[in-house]
Amino acid sequence: MEHLHTTICALATPPGEGGIATVRVSGPDAYGIVGKIFAPVRQGKSVADAKGYTAMLGHYLLHGAEMDECVALFFRAPHSYTGEDVVEFSCHGGPWLLSRVLRLLLDHGAVPAQAGEFTKRAFLSGKMDLTQAEAVMDLISASGADASRAAMAAREGALSRKTQAVCADLTLLAAHMSAWVDYPDDEIEELTDTHLEETLSRCAGELRHLLSTFDTGKILREGIPTAIVGRPNVGKSTLMNLLAGYDRSIVTDIPGTTRDIVEETVRLPGGLVLNIADTAGLRTTDDPVEAIGVTRARGKLEQSSLVLAVLDGSAPLSDEDRELVLSLRERPAVAILNKSDLGQSGDEDWVRQQLTHCVTLSAREGTGLAELDTAVREALSLGAVDPSAPMLANERQRGCVRRACSAVEEALDAQRMGMTMDAVNICIDEALEALLELDGRQVTDAVVDEVFANFCVGK
Ligand code: GDP
Repeated sequence: MEHLHTTICALATPPGEGGIATVRVSGPDAYGIVGKIFAPVRQGKSVADAKGYTAMLGHYLLHGAEMDECVALFFRAPHSYTGEDVVEFSCHGGPWLLSRVLRLLLDHGAVPAQAGEFTKRAFLSGKMDLTQAEAVMDLISASGADASRAAMAAREGALSRKTQAVCADLTLLAAHMSAWVDYPDDEIEELTDTHLEETLSRCAGELRHLLSTFDTGKILREGIPTAIVGRPNVGKSTLMNLLAGYDRSIVTDIPGTTRDIVEETVRLPGGLVLNIADTAGLRTTDDPVEAIGVTRARGKLEQSSLVLAVLDGSAPLSDEDRELVLSLRERPAVAILNKSDLGQSGDEDWVRQQLTHCVTLSAREGTGLAELDTAVREALSLGAVDPSAPMLANERQRGCVRRACSAVEEALDAQRMGMTMDAVNICIDEALEALLELDGRQVTDAVVDEVFANFCVGK
């Protein structure tokens, strides 16, 4: 852990001009280095004496001359994000100025931080486990309320608490079995088959449940791949624009104007994020350009997890509309009877008989969106999802839990087939290994590097 002896620095805010930018310095020599480049305004103040959780106004020193003013925030190890001594400068966010400040820090012994190195240090110094560190990144990239709630729960350790409870159960079993195998003459109570089987089944159940959260977590984090379909002129673009909050696709009265696929990430009132592909009307056409659009639209439709079928609710349904509705009966879909401001044609009952999830709204007036949110949640069975429940957030975590789960299932099989305690114990050890890798208690450097390589510099 050679690098833990270095002091790192980086810009923690996005590059470019800004009112304020933050430069972070972390490591054993953070105060020493900062002391050489920062002059407090107040007489008698010094960086070396600065207490943790305090702020100080001052200037940077360039060749001994005072440069721009800034505020330094001090954190003393171990009470900082990284667990090391940390100083954070809030300075004016000018790119030239910031490059000077970073240069000064580097000239005085700091080294540039690698991607995710602040959080990596927090992990290495035991401030957080690996799943919590991963949640930091998810929190930064969260695009909706549910996504950020899920990331916050993981940041607070919801996932590791769950897996650690399983670990504790398995460890107890393993310890008991080893003791019994190793010291058969001692008076160690034999594990009853029932107890062993009950514990293993419970652990397998918990792990299987965790695995099942992956898809939901992905939906909350990345949004729902959604296709919006319907005849030309039913109001698809108008609805997209309403959801997106600004004019993205061209709204016209000429059928077939939306020739290509417009993709947009929108948020429903309840916080669900939809990645919507607005498609050219799914219709037969002689126009070659439009035909390409139609082919792509069909592809998008196949890939999506949710279909929003827009219909003009104020006019009688066409054969095409009916065909569309019937084609969606087997998949998660919501029928949207648009243009409710113009009245109802009377076909609503037929649509409701075909599709469980159907809402009436007016894209022009912006009414009915809350009902749309509810219908989408129901169509995807997201109604009962608690975003703060333990959830798997990425493939790495899923891989670990999957390994642990199969190992526990193997242990169960071995036990049921009457194999030796040793055989059962080997499987349990394998499960434990996977779970310890999940939260990083026992993990290779390669895995750790991989996790933090996806971070941004400064985090
Ligand atoms: P698209 O071809 O399905 O994308 O339909 P557009 O969004 O381009 O809308 C076609 C026409 O219907 C436009 O003139 C819209 O202003 C109009 N329109 C869309 N939604 C509504 C609505 O809820 N009420 C009414 N009265 N008109 C609407």
